[in-house]
Amino acid sequence: MNKLSTRSENHAPVFFFPQVDKEGHVMFACCEDHIDLAIDMYVDKMEQAPEIAHMTVDNQSKTCDFCPKKAVYIVGN
Ligand SMILES: [Zn+2]
Repeated sequence: MNKLSTRSENHAPVFFFPQVDKEGHVMFACCEDHIDLAIDMYVDKMEQAPEIAHMTVDNQSKTCDFCPKKAVYIVGN
């Protein structure tokens, strides 16, 4: 089992840390490749289905939480 590694092999800076907003809602930004993973992780953590939204223009500079690609979806409630 890998420990959480902050540096070394992986270029992705954070892996198992979803964004949590002020109200405690969990949000993932993800690319098309990782939408399933984001949903799984959300359901795992929150025990309910997330809402999935397309990135808005305001958020277009965001990157996927799981890889360095540009995020396409926001998963959360
Ligand atoms: Zn990705």
